[in-house]
Amino acid sequence: MHILVTNDDGVMAAGLLALVQAMRQVGEVSVVAPDHNWSAGGHVKTLHRPLRVQSVTLDDGTVALANDGAPSDCVAMALMGIVEEPVDLVVSGINPNANLGHDVTYSGTVTAAMEAVIAGVPGIAFSLVSPDEHPEELDYGPAAEVAQEIVSTVVRAGLEKDLLLNVNVPYLQREQMNGFMVTRQGLRVYRDRLERRVDPRGRPYYWIGGEYPTGVPDEGTDFGAVMSGYVSITPLQLDLTAHRRVDQMRDWQWPM
Ligand code: MN
Repeated sequence: MHILVTNDDGVMAAGLLALVQAMRQVGEVSVVAPDHNWSAGGHVKTLHRPLRVQSVTLDDGTVALANDGAPSDCVAMALMGIVEEPVDLVVSGINPNANLGHDVTYSGTVTAAMEAVIAGVPGIAFSLVSPDEHPEELDYGPAAEVAQEIVSTVVRAGLEKDLLLNVNVPYLQREQMNGFMVTRQGLRVYRDRLERRVDPRGRPYYWIGGEYPTGVPDEGTDFGAVMSGYVSITPLQLDLTAHRRVDQMRDWQWPM
């Protein structure tokens, strides 16, 4: 079992190291991750500039590869040969913030796992549902334990190459969690606000600010599960077709 670990927060992030150490209990680990924070960077393929990779040493002595591309570039490059041995599973995280509902389209953590599936390797994204205002040092211990439990379960069930899981772990001690729930994507409610400011030369510039997003805690959804203290496991697919609409729209009177 050869597991590729990546993230979108940068190779030196504490959440990555916690995931590396958890995955080492399950299999052999390789690490290729961005050299800086790409959070909310979305699904990227860098084609307009060269990409560089350098070897770095993590806090526990693990040798990792740092890449100046996006998380999805890291996965694509690893699977195209930067990592020589065949990879059985790609895991991404542990992201310090939740990736729920619509977040998956922004999330570098999730799009790294999507890139794995595009390359024919199963991918799992792990995110911690930390409080909006959290201490500088988050405790990744319980989420790392959950990641190990999930990967062991998935391996036992049988890895399928189109498997893409978005996992969100509540910020609780392991024994305080209510269990694991397989969920569907819920609805995120964004509270972004555009802040217009003026630079010293009198030109306007903008910040996307506002409050942290919230969500609709419907039963059976990712948001609902984590709000009730469950680990949320959402199977995702890259086919975004609105299947319910296809037949209905074929009946519309389209021009000849
Ligand atoms: Mn991130």
